Amino acid sequence: QVPTIYVITPTYARPVQKAELTRLSHTFMLVPKLHWIIVEDATNKTELVANLLKESNINHTHLHALTPDQYKLKKKDGHWKKPRGVQQRNAALDWLRLFRSSDNDKGIVYFADDDNSYSLKLFSEMRRVKRVGVWPVGLVGGLKVEKSLVNAQGKVIGFNSMWAPQRPFPIDMAGFAINLDLINRNENVKFSFDVDRGYQESAILSKVVTSLSQLEPLADNCTKVYVWHTRTIDPTFAYEAVLKKKHMAPSDLG
Ligand code: UDP
Ligand code: MN
Repeated sequence: QVPTIYVITPTYARPVQKAELTRLSHTFMLVPKLHWIIVEDATNKTELVANLLKESNINHTHLHALTPDQYKLKKKDGHWKKPRGVQQRNAALDWLRLFRSSDNDKGIVYFADDDNSYSLKLFSEMRRVKRVGVWPVGLVGGLKVEKSLVNAQGKVIGFNSMWAPQRPFPIDMAGFAINLDLINRNENVKFSFDVDRGYQESAILSKVVTSLSQLEPLADNCTKVYVWHTRTIDPTFAYEAVLKKKHMAPSDLG
């Protein structure tokens, strides 16, 4: 039986949101047996996301979960100041536990942020995950590629990570997927706001694997890059004010 890939994506309203979600949806549309759990960081579900999902025809679940105010990033904060996506990913995990018991549905769970770039090859790789699969991530951690180190026997023996390499699992969120069984069997597999910067991945992976040897290296023993931690520049719209001065209507993203 071919497992379903449950892709969990936190997302929030901003000028680039529709562009990001369009890119993602046009990748996911091409992946068989994919179920997209998209969770808006908002007080309600928006038309923008609902329409995009409808037009994409992707199997999906549309949720919302607002980040509590004290954890919300402020304009002046660096993007790393507070954890992002915690409330949203947990809402998706709760939904999975409620509605997808792994007894009748084999599944793989992947956390796909809305600004990354994903190759179709990534999804064929992760479908093979038994427990926890890992693979390289491009453009992250101050490196061209951050990846697990794999020995001649095909076992993970360490990582090439240079940013906070003391982390138990110095892997980006985009660099692993977890079998749905492990999530259904363990209520503690969830994200937390009380985790140091950069430790979200380690915290969750520590709950599903106890040693490096349990990690399954994919993407040709972690030699291929099928996902990139791209980050989109927040546009400034400096010339909208000029339009206004000329008594023209503001431009509109629709
Ligand atoms: N995110 C969110 N609310 C926020 C900030 C981010 O839901 O206030 C989502 C965002 O859309 C993305 C994920 O959380 O899917 C990770 O955020 P981001 O890409 O900004 O993190 P980074 O790549 O900088 O670690
Ligand atoms: Mn990102």
